[in-house]
Amino acid sequence: MTANKLIRKLLKLTGLKIVALELKSKAKELHLYVKPHKNGCRCPTCGRRCTIKRTARELRTWRDVCVCGWVVCFLYEPKEIVCPTHGRVQEEIPWADGRARITYRLEYLVLVYSQLMTQKAAGELLRIPGSTFSDILHRTITRTRDGHRIRDLTSLGLDEVSYQKGHKYVSVVYDLDRSRVVWVGKGKTRSTIDKFFNEMLSDYQKKRIEWACCDMSPTYIGAVIEHCPNAKLVLDRFHIAKALSEAMDEVRKEEWRKVTGAERKALKGLRWILFKHPSNRTAEDKRILAMIRRSNRRIYRASVLKDEFDQFWNYKVEWAARRFLKAWCTTALKSRLEPIRKFVATLRKHTENIITFIPSRLTNATAEGLNRIIRIVKNRASGFRTVQAFIDLIYLAIGDLDIPAQIPTRFRTT
Ligand SMILES: [Zn+2]
Repeated sequence: MTANKLIRKLLKLTGLKIVALELKSKAKELHLYVKPHKNGCRCPTCGRRCTIKRTARELRTWRDVCVCGWVVCFLYEPKEIVCPTHGRVQEEIPWADGRARITYRLEYLVLVYSQLMTQKAAGELLRIPGSTFSDILHRTITRTRDGHRIRDLTSLGLDEVSYQKGHKYVSVVYDLDRSRVVWVGKGKTRSTIDKFFNEMLSDYQKKRIEWACCDMSPTYIGAVIEHCPNAKLVLDRFHIAKALSEAMDEVRKEEWRKVTGAERKALKGLRWILFKHPSNRTAEDKRILAMIRRSNRRIYRASVLKDEFDQFWNYKVEWAARRFLKAWCTTALKSRLEPIRKFVATLRKHTENIITFIPSRLTNATAEGLNRIIRIVKNRASGFRTVQAFIDLIYLAIGDLDIPAQIPTRFRTT
C-alpha cells in the first residue's frame, strides 16, 4: 500500500486524488494538494462534463476535519469551464459547496456538535475560533434552508421569546401538529409577523390554516385575523393563566404596601405558595394559606379565584365551559378586587377565542417542550453575539427541516 493510498483510507477520502502533501508542524496542519476528478470537470448546476476554459487561477484552501490534533486542509486550483447551457462557470467542487471555505464533512460536524454542546465547546473541539464558528453555522443553515417550503400547515402557533436578559424578542411560528418551529423573526411587532405571512405562505396556504394559537396581544390577534381567513383563534391557555396569576399577585402587592412590621413578616414568602398549583402545595403551604384566610381576606379571595379558574381547562363540552366562565366572572367581579376585575374585562372581551380551546385543546405548549428546548438553546448559545445566532440555533434544534440530514450521506463522518 502506498502512503497516498493509506492517507486516503485513513481520512476516508473518496472520489479525489492526492497529488502532494505537506506537514506544517508549527501550525499543526496537514496540507493536501488534491484533484477532484478522475475524468474531466463538471458543471456545478447540471453535472455535465465540460471543456476547460482556463486551468490555473488561484490556489484555494478548504478547511477539513481535525485528525489527532492535525487540521486537514485541501488545496486546489479550481478550473473555469464552459457549459453549453450555463456558460462560463467554476467547475464543481465535489467536497464543498461552491462558495464555502470548508468541506461538507466539517459543515456536518459543525451542525452536529452545535446540537450537542455550547458553541464555545464545539469551536474548541473542531479548532475553529468563536466568531468564524457562528459565521460558518449561519452560512450552512441558510444554505440548507434556502428554497425550503413550509408544508401542510393547519395548526399555527405564534409566540414571542425573549433573549439577552429579556429586553429583546424574537417571534416564533410553530406548526402545532408536528411540534416544529417553521419560522423565526426578529422583533415582535406587526411588521415581523406580516413578513412571515407575506413571504412564507401562499394565499392557498393561508386559507388552509384551521387553527391559530397566540397570546392576548392585539398585534398577534390582528395579524391572524387579517392573514388567515378560515382560522379559528385560540388564545393560549398559559398566557391566560399567567395573566390571572399576575392579577392575583397585584392584589398581594397592594396588601403588602398597606402593612408594615410584623404584618409584613406574615406575608413574606407568600408569593410562591400562591403561584403554585393547588395540587403541588405542601402541608406547610396549606397551613400558611389557612392563616392568610383569617388574617388577610383580600389575598385569600384572590388566590381562591385563581385556583378555581383552573377547572375551566378540564371542561369537555362548550356549553358547560361557557356556563362556568360566566359564573366565575360574576363571582370575580363581586370580589371588589380591582386587578381581578380588570382580568375579567379582558376575559369577557376575548370569551369566544378562549372557548375555542374546549373543542381544539390547542395551546402553544402542545408543541411539547418546544419552549423548554428554546431555553436550552439559549443557554447553549449563551454569549452569542447576534440575534441571528440564536435564530440559527432554534432552526437547527427544532426547525421543520432536519438540517444535518441535508448534507449528503457520504460526508457524514463522525
Ligand atoms: Zn451546466
